[in-house]
Amino acid sequence: MHQGVERVLISRADIDKKVNEMALAISEEYHGKNLLIVGILKGAMIFMADLVRAISIDVQFDFMAVSSYGSSSKSTGVVRIIKDLDQNIQGRHILVVEDIVDTGLTLNYLLDILKAREPASVRICALLDKPSRREVKVPVDFNGFSIPDEFVVGYGLDYNEMYRNLPEIYVLKQEVYKITK
Ligand code: 5GP
Repeated sequence: MHQGVERVLISRADIDKKVNEMALAISEEYHGKNLLIVGILKGAMIFMADLVRAISIDVQFDFMAVSSYGSSSKSTGVVRIIKDLDQNIQGRHILVVEDIVDTGLTLNYLLDILKAREPASVRICALLDKPSRREVKVPVDFNGFSIPDEFVVGYGLDYNEMYRNLPEIYVLKQEVYKITK
């Protein structure tokens, strides 16, 4: 195990099983519809790569990169779009794929932006959810794992842009925060 992490929270086998279940649910839900999957960079990249390959219907995908204003450790809910979608989403069925929903502020803001573009529907798929941290209600239509309030890394999730490439989901060691803060 990487020296920066304390323990495995979700194993590779459990991630694979869950991603396949989510892909099946999405394939059934959007059967016969023209689905556009919108991945939120960079955290959702690894999850989305596995998810789309397990989906059995035809899909297209696009990406957005956002950053929240304010300090990096506290979400303000105001989101700056760093990379916008390439496509016009008017009349399209959109599934937003996110790594983790924490306070919900980022997704709440993003949903408003996307809805203003008049898609046929917008739904959310998130691998991880920290319900105890929620500040605004966001509808997570496809949810992988609900986790406790611990800072996790791996499988696309970072701390200071590190650890994204680790294959499982881990709890970060406390001293890593302290050294880099
Ligand atoms: P929210 O606006 O819901 O508070 O923020 C969600 C974003 O915060 C996620 O997309 C992710 O980038 C970041 N985040 C929240 N909790 C964690 C965590 O435990 N680990 C990592 N690596 N990022 C997190």
